[in-house]
Amino acid sequence: MSDSEGWDGDLRDTGLALKHDREWDYELDRVADAVAERDADTVALQFPEGLKRRAAGVADDLDELLPEKVRIYISGEANFGACDLDTDLMRRSDVFVHFGHSPMVEGGDVIYVPLFSNVDVEPILEEAVGHLEGDEVGLVTTAQHMNKFEMMQSFLEDRGFTVHTRRGDERLTHEGQVLGCNYASAEVPADQVLYVGGGGFHPSGLAMDNPEKRVVIADPVNNVVKPASAEKFIKQRYAAIHSAMDAETWGVIAGTKIGQRRHGIAETIVAENDDAYLITLDEITPDHLRNFGLDAYVNTACPRITTDDGPQFDQPLLTPQEYRIAVGEEPMDALEFDTFEGTW
Ligand code: SF4
Repeated sequence: MSDSEGWDGDLRDTGLALKHDREWDYELDRVADAVAERDADTVALQFPEGLKRRAAGVADDLDELLPEKVRIYISGEANFGACDLDTDLMRRSDVFVHFGHSPMVEGGDVIYVPLFSNVDVEPILEEAVGHLEGDEVGLVTTAQHMNKFEMMQSFLEDRGFTVHTRRGDERLTHEGQVLGCNYASAEVPADQVLYVGGGGFHPSGLAMDNPEKRVVIADPVNNVVKPASAEKFIKQRYAAIHSAMDAETWGVIAGTKIGQRRHGIAETIVAENDDAYLITLDEITPDHLRNFGLDAYVNTACPRITTDDGPQFDQPLLTPQEYRIAVGEEPMDALEFDTFEGTW
């Protein structure tokens, strides 16, 4: 995937002195307590891509708190979100700890340690105020900035705005939280939404999912305020649909990652089309699809692989709804951004 659920920008200036990192509270006492309670022999640690540089230091610190018999494993698998737990390592360890994301997936005994960004958001909010129109605004952010959410809300209210917030659905842990595949928290009675957070990954999805709203990005990591636009993505999606219209054979991807499973949608498509085949896949990459030699693919797993990485694939890669447009079951102007809202 081209980006993950945060962390990339936030680590830019933190240097390489990673051992005994004191920048964040990794809640290692909580992990050590769980190890003692379960009389554990193995503890497994999983970090998102942007935090992997911290893994060795965190393991060293944890090791000092644990009995000698306990073996620490670090997951080396790619990780892009709380939807993407290392289930193999989870099964084989007594305690499994996932750092950097808030809880999404129930089951097992996962200890989530949601680390928060220490970036000061007040200067960028001050600048953002000048870019907002009217006096009503929706407010959203990512899990990494949730520790500042109340402060953001008060800041805007102090400047005369009525701030609309909500917790979207059960895939989200917090009020005002968005994920790359879920913008239900932005469904508020306001014509404009302020997104506070780093990078373009989340606001591009926010703009795609809310074409009727004005979306303003306040990026405290890159220190920039600007509008979000979905224009480029929409053009790409129409191009992908057009290039799949002549496809005779289809691969329908049923993702195996624990928080990306929409197998029912994949099975329905295959049941209705004799020339469609169910393909299970963990990492969805051009290399993994190349040898099947099918004409086009439908991705029912993480929708951002389709929208953000789709152009890198040899054959068209569509969302389930785009497939229905390509085969003539829905009109072209029905195109919507694919999300995990209400399907989780
Ligand atoms: S499925 Fe959602 S939470 Fe998981 S990586 Fe994709 S966008 Fe992020």
